[in-house]
Amino acid sequence: MLNDVVIVGAGPVGSVLALALADSDIDVAVLDERAAGETLRGDRSLALSHGARLIFERLGIWDALTAVRGAATPIVRIDISQAGGFGQMELAAEEQGIPALGYVVSYRALQAALDTALARTSVAVRHGVTVKSVDGKPAFAAVELEGAGAEPVLARLAAVADGTGEAMAGIARQRHDYGQVALVGKLWRAAPHNGVAYERFTPDGPIALLPQSDHYGLVWTVTPNRARELVALDDVAFLDQLARHFGTQTGGFLRVADRREFPLVLEFAREPALARCVALGNAAQTLHPVAGQGFNVGLRDAWELADVVLDTPRERLGDRAMLERYLRGRRTDRMAGIAFTHGLVNVFGNDLPFVRWPRGLALTLLDAVPAAKRAFTHAMLFGLR
Ligand SMILES: Cc1cc2nc3c(=O)[nH]c(=O)nc-3n(C[C@H](O)[C@H](O)[C@H](O)COP(=O)(O)OP(=O)(O)OC[C@H]3O[C@@H](n4cnc5c(N)ncnc54)[C@H](O)[C@@H]3O)c2cc1C
Repeated sequence: MLNDVVIVGAGPVGSVLALALADSDIDVAVLDERAAGETLRGDRSLALSHGARLIFERLGIWDALTAVRGAATPIVRIDISQAGGFGQMELAAEEQGIPALGYVVSYRALQAALDTALARTSVAVRHGVTVKSVDGKPAFAAVELEGAGAEPVLARLAAVADGTGEAMAGIARQRHDYGQVALVGKLWRAAPHNGVAYERFTPDGPIALLPQSDHYGLVWTVTPNRARELVALDDVAFLDQLARHFGTQTGGFLRVADRREFPLVLEFAREPALARCVALGNAAQTLHPVAGQGFNVGLRDAWELADVVLDTPRERLGDRAMLERYLRGRRTDRMAGIAFTHGLVNVFGNDLPFVRWPRGLALTLLDAVPAAKRAFTHAMLFGLR
């Protein structure tokens, strides 16, 4: 059987694409190796932009997500500053005339809400199926599955949202290893967070505190050696180190839990498409979490791919012209998200005094100049195009 679209990976990005196509006459098959109702990885805090909320509202899952206690925490203010230098910037939701700048969402709760919504549609989701490879032929894509005797799944268009792009091996990728790791964990402070997120640039690298439920999600960027030292500390010594680096005004750290680390790389495909196949989400670009852009860019990939698919006659799905149209539409937003994140890491990850001074000035000016601040906030909330 020839499907119209096969989606490889029903993570958040693949699921959004499937839901956006669900009410149409497009015939969609979804494949994921995780068992139904499970997430493969542990939980993580996703920073969701206001634009992402609008997508979830249009898909009808926002109410279900926010009904779960602590699943989505509004960020009403972001406080951006640097240690050991002047310059501070504040982004506030009320200045933008919106209820929240963004939300911190539990990956697990989001995945559960998406799974439930997908199960109510007629989209065929096959769980527990591992994809070996996706091969583009002139007239269709063939998705090969693990397991002896498993029949390939054929479709006019294969949308690969497997989180790594491994299923689409032939694609050219650029990779930059930042030589840093993100140390993540849950953090409790004496005072309530009141919806305030902190992004503090320190000589060791940026520290982000994201308000989530009754605690903060901590993302501390450090070198691998430093991460090993920090992970080996007991909780009291770790909190002491954190308070020293973060500065005193937001001290009062009480408790930390679930500390773990993961390597930080930038990996992306400039043209994330091959014959009859397109990669999206983390499969197309994996970004440093400093600006909380990665997932939001991936969501916009899914939303805009659905738009192009719904606007293309069935017999032309997956052809070169359709893929070109999608790539053209996504180019500016993807590249801007990549450049913006990469630039932020380079400017704020550098502790030379002559860089520290101008970047303090940049933060101060950005705070003082409403138009610049509005442009910056708009980029953070909705992406660039
Ligand atoms: C530790 C960590 C912390 C992060 N923190 C943040 C953050 O704070 N803010 C933020 O915006 N982003 C963050 N990110 C990035 C964010 O998690 C990703 O942007 C998001 O998960 C991408 O969604 P996705 O659907 O593209 O991929 P994934 O979430 O990786 O989903 C991929 C899906 O594909 C399935 N799959 C994989 N391989 C196969 C296969 N061969 N066959 C079948 N199915 C397959 C998997 O089971 C999974 O369901 C973080 C990433 C990591 C690793």
